[in-house]
Amino acid sequence: QAKTQGKNSYRVFHPDMEATVHAQERLESALRGALDRGEFTLHYQPQVRGSAVTGVEALLRWTHHDLGEVPPDQFIPVAEDSAIILPLGAWVLDQAAAQAARWQAAGTPLRVAVNVSPREFAQSDFVERVQGTLTRHHLRGEWLELEVTERLVVRDIEAAAHKIRQLRRLGVLVSLDDFGAGHSALSSLMKLPISALKIDHEFVENAEFHEGGQQLIQAITSVARAMNLAVVAEGVETERQLNMVRALGCDQVQGFLFARPMPADDLARWLAEWRAGGGQAGG
Ligand code: C2E
Ligand code: MG
Ligand code: MG
Ligand code: MG
Repeated sequence: QAKTQGKNSYRVFHPDMEATVHAQERLESALRGALDRGEFTLHYQPQVRGSAVTGVEALLRWTHHDLGEVPPDQFIPVAEDSAIILPLGAWVLDQAAAQAARWQAAGTPLRVAVNVSPREFAQSDFVERVQGTLTRHHLRGEWLELEVTERLVVRDIEAAAHKIRQLRRLGVLVSLDDFGAGHSALSSLMKLPISALKIDHEFVENAEFHEGGQQLIQAITSVARAMNLAVVAEGVETERQLNMVRALGCDQVQGFLFARPMPADDLARWLAEWRAGGGQAGG
């Protein structure tokens, strides 16, 4: 790799990088028009506290006619680099709000959490866009949650904090996603007026086998408690992990143990079964 060849190397472009760039260009051109071709859908994954479902996270799915299903971890970064994320993110927000309104009308109200990329959040009219979406769907802000990552903080923490305060005035909740995965200082992240921390699934996985990992989660949950923040553990796949994160102070859980992300119709069925079964994991 170019990196390992030292500062004096002129060879800055490795064939692997070239392949990567090509793959990204392919993805980018496939992404163009994908929205108009109706290739995106949203799936929803429940979040659970005790035996109650507290809400769902909307997760984007893309099926391209040639490439097939492309996972968001691959296409979201490309969409962000190419600004396609702006119309795409607006579509996600609109769809999620429409679905939240539908659940309200059906008598099964659910808060919907939407992932927001740094580039979307940075738009000067982002708060107005959110407000407009709520109005369009006659949805109160409380039924919407926005998941942001610490990548938006690196730019300007005061500006980010200000925007989050404005969103909270609309009733919208803001949570910090992938917590622990980045490098921002805890002290600066704590300046943000957020309402929840989501612990990245890698930390949950790691903590199962490493005591240091457990201490880290414990530290996060005690800071969160002191600051009156909810803590969501992501990627909980086993009973063992569930018991562990609960013992470490995570009050909410999201993961395959309860349910995979699924289309809205399937979620309605899952919810009915969940309630009928008294809300046990797996059932
Ligand atoms: P995220 O926001 O941290 O979402 C959680 C990811 O963990 C989702 O992956 C979900 O399917 C996965 N997950 C949930 N439970 C488990 C589990 O028990 N085990 C494992 N191994 N994974 C689990 P997904 O759907 O592939 O999304 C990946 C990332 O793509 C998301 O991470 C988010 O950063 C981004 N993303 C997804 N949808 C959107 C979107 O609409 N807008 C933006 N900006 N980003 C999105
Ligand atoms: Mg998320
Ligand atoms: Mg996450
Ligand atoms: Mg993630």
